[in-house]
Amino acid sequence: MIIMKTDATEEDIQRVVEEIERSGLRADVSRGEYMTVIGPVGDERRLAFDRIATLAGVKEASMVESPYKLISRQYARFFGEPGANRTVIIGDVHLGNGEPVIIAGPCAIESRPQLMRIAEEVKGAGAQILRGGVFKPRSSVHSFQGLGAAGAEGAEEALCWLKEAGDAFDMPVVTEVRGESMVELVARYVDMMHIGARNMYDQDLLVAVARQRKPVLLKRHFGASIEELLSFSEYVAAEGNKDIILCERGIVPMGKGKSFTRYTLDLAAVPVIHDETYLPVIVDPSHSTGRRDLIYPMSCAAVAAGADGLMIEVHYDPSEALVDGPQMVTPDELRSIVDACRRLYATVKKS
Ligand code: PEP
Ligand code: MN
Repeated sequence: MIIMKTDATEEDIQRVVEEIERSGLRADVSRGEYMTVIGPVGDERRLAFDRIATLAGVKEASMVESPYKLISRQYARFFGEPGANRTVIIGDVHLGNGEPVIIAGPCAIESRPQLMRIAEEVKGAGAQILRGGVFKPRSSVHSFQGLGAAGAEGAEEALCWLKEAGDAFDMPVVTEVRGESMVELVARYVDMMHIGARNMYDQDLLVAVARQRKPVLLKRHFGASIEELLSFSEYVAAEGNKDIILCERGIVPMGKGKSFTRYTLDLAAVPVIHDETYLPVIVDPSHSTGRRDLIYPMSCAAVAAGADGLMIEVHYDPSEALVDGPQMVTPDELRSIVDACRRLYATVKKS
């Protein structure tokens, strides 16, 4: 990180940027009201910090040894206001620094009428963002793979319905993109791009999605540490896209006996991530528990832990859903979850 003096000139700044680029790195330049900070992006060991420290206009040059420095609070001290949390804007919804945002919808888009009905009902229940999977990551190739499995045409049709439903009920939309080849197509239709748990480690996908310059929802892999989640989100930030929302969705349960939940919801991740980074973090009580009866208590617990939002799977008739029926709540159940979470948030905020 290179901190420039308050009286550094534009030429001084450019000289430092050139020095960084000559070493094969990129430079992230942040011009604050009082000073400019330059963050080298790439392998910092290739930089001669001692020499950079002697250049005109440089106050301080030092290596930040963190795999997620661009999204860290330590770095944000220089790049934003001290302690500032980021608010990510999806369509006209502000996520972060306020009441938890509710993302809801079906696990998978199954048909136009199914999606339209769920969209209307989740909106009525208080959701602000509509979700719906076009490409489903499934353990069995013999199960329903999402309408996107029919190729680009099937995918585009389902994406059109998603956009149509979002427009009809005034909600921005989010869907998962599973492969690089679909990134551009998905980006044409959605307000936020979602990278699922299984793909958290796919650097090429992260970079391709980041380059669409849309907000990115990155879910934690079920075997990933918090540090890995943060480190892989850095691939998005390193492309200059810091509109990242992190999502805790449960990790692999321990031990041999019955664990009673689909995954283990690591709620401590919420305050830990808030401590480490300025990025907003949401919780997915649906995939983490796999159980309809646990969505209400775990949503409340997530809000109490400081979550900036929730992502909840909803169906008007969960028994009919082609994917993840056991964890779906009905629109009425969603409404009571949203009401409880809003009341709880007001209490948590006050205290
Ligand atoms: C999803 O949100 O549709 C999903 C498949 O979740 P995850 O990637 O967390 O399993
Ligand atoms: Mn699902």
